[in-house]
Amino acid sequence: MEDLVFKTVHCNLCKHQFKTPRVKRKKQKAITTDPDFCVHYESENPIYYYVAVCPQCGYSFTEAFKRPKKGIEEKVPSLDDDYLRQRDADIAEKSYWRAIECAMVQEERSAVLAGLYHHLAWVYRLKGDKEKEKEALQKAYQYYYTTYQETYAGDTGRIMYLLGEISRRLGNYKEAVFYLAKVANDRTIADPGLTRQAREIWQRAREEYKEETAQEEESPQE
Ligand SMILES: [Zn+2]
Repeated sequence: MEDLVFKTVHCNLCKHQFKTPRVKRKKQKAITTDPDFCVHYESENPIYYYVAVCPQCGYSFTEAFKRPKKGIEEKVPSLDDDYLRQRDADIAEKSYWRAIECAMVQEERSAVLAGLYHHLAWVYRLKGDKEKEKEALQKAYQYYYTTYQETYAGDTGRIMYLLGEISRRLGNYKEAVFYLAKVANDRTIADPGLTRQAREIWQRAREEYKEETAQEEESPQE
């Protein structure tokens, strides 16, 4: 509990003011980062605390949410737990599902939904639930793809990179190679770290694809 700080937030829906837990910046100890930017911590995990859940009306949101329209109150999932305390993976999982529900109700942007499903996938990864992680990644992919199609200008490099890396994680290697090659060869991307990483993951995807096809050749279908 001493790793947490309580941040005052306003519920955008009912205007109630409450204190939601966050992990103190100084107490965040990262161990590794996965290629899709999932950070593993040896400390209390900040990913578990991104969603604020209003203790009065149940509205669940992140800082990326737009202002909700009036009249969605009845569609907000009713309160099912205490979210203003230390969270474990199970409570974090529930908080993301609530935020996804609220985001759907208020027709939130694809980028927001992509982020929510991607974070949910990370929660499942940390729990070791591979099946559910895959389902959440598939959803994240769909929403990143819509975001990519909607983003005519601006930074599509990171979205393309994520489309590639998530495809690789889902075993869709041809797609992974397609997107990662695009990022690796795109000279307009300003972030050299991203193109470098894309090149590495591109290589990894090609190797994994080769391994997979080799295995298929070794064990032909009956
Ligand atoms: Zn509220």
